[in-house]
Amino acid sequence: MKISPWPELYVPGMSQALPALKMKSTYGEKIFPSDPINPIRMYVCGITPYDSTHLGHAATYITFDLIHRYILATGGTVSFVENITDIDEPLLERASRDNTDWQSLALDQVQLFESDMSALHIMPPKYFVPATQVMDEVAQAIETMEKNGFVYKVDQDIYFDISSYLDELPISVDEALRIFSERGGDPQRSGKRHPLDPVLWLANKNGEPGWESPYGFGRPGWHIECCVISLKYLRGPQYLGGTILDSAEKFLIDIQGGGTDLIFPHHFMSAAQAHAMTGRTFAKAYIHSGMIGLDGEKMSKSKGNLLFVSQLISDGEDPMAIRLALLLDKYSQDRMWTELKLEVAKELLQRIRLNLSKMEVAPAAPLIASLGEALSRDLDTPAAIVAIQAWCEESEASPSVDEAGQVSRALDSLLGLAL
Ligand code: ZN
Repeated sequence: MKISPWPELYVPGMSQALPALKMKSTYGEKIFPSDPINPIRMYVCGITPYDSTHLGHAATYITFDLIHRYILATGGTVSFVENITDIDEPLLERASRDNTDWQSLALDQVQLFESDMSALHIMPPKYFVPATQVMDEVAQAIETMEKNGFVYKVDQDIYFDISSYLDELPISVDEALRIFSERGGDPQRSGKRHPLDPVLWLANKNGEPGWESPYGFGRPGWHIECCVISLKYLRGPQYLGGTILDSAEKFLIDIQGGGTDLIFPHHFMSAAQAHAMTGRTFAKAYIHSGMIGLDGEKMSKSKGNLLFVSQLISDGEDPMAIRLALLLDKYSQDRMWTELKLEVAKELLQRIRLNLSKMEVAPAAPLIASLGEALSRDLDTPAAIVAIQAWCEESEASPSVDEAGQVSRALDSLLGLAL
């Protein structure tokens, strides 16, 4: 599948200095000081293109867009890579259920995803890479892991030996086993060394799509795909052969991102495989955005209660109101989507627009300083919104300066609200 990232966005520059970004990672607080030379290497797990783009997806990609924007606003640069899992069990199942070709289903869904990302004003990644484009690299990565003693065969399938990494499991083995089988793993399969060992290369069965490789005709497992794409595009192809360019470096990338449902097994397994190849810790920070629920329930495919961005937009909702509604709560919390939140966001948006259209408003600098304070503290968007409300109040009560343009540019740069 040939895919290009969605179109670049114009992001206005910032007129004042802001504090460095401090994020809470699974492994403690991490600070990202602005560095115009060395980009922050950020890898965010992309969609499996068969149900794009529900509000959970939107919340995740807005979270990493805020990080991207904040680093730019503080004078840094970001190398941002995102994948597309365009070959996987759920995609094949959906294509067969709908009696359609898996490739055209994937392509349609990727196009829909891209138009939703543009509508939500999310900056595109530098590389937006379908898994089907890195089959040779996956084979090379498996070879490197095999050389390092992490690979074995069950029938015709190739597995990764996770035993060296079990001490680092973020949850108990029992819980890991339960989640593993819910999220694409096969703990019951006989012949595996450990029930949690993930598949690296699946031999072709029942005429499913496949690719030639030294490991037979088949397709890659899910975790190896992200491991390979992140290393190839954020570090260079030599890393897939286990070559480290800077022997002093501790981490391969700066940020691994996604929803909290990816903490285990996906991010754990990708990191273990990257370490097995290179002997280095995969990411400096793991940042996960919370799950979005609907009507008091977790939003999920199995419950059939997914709410889609494209649906809201075709119902006439303003994409900026959808974006603002998703900023009302902190990114890391599990939270409910409600009609009321959308209404609150629409009203606030209207109020901001009205104020921005006036000749005189409250001064921009204190608002921008408050936005920087709030966002630099682990993306505290609720505090940022309180600051915007206070600015609106002051602009209505005692407008004093001609600085609406500055405020408008700051809301775009920092929050992605293009008004
Ligand atoms: Zn991933």
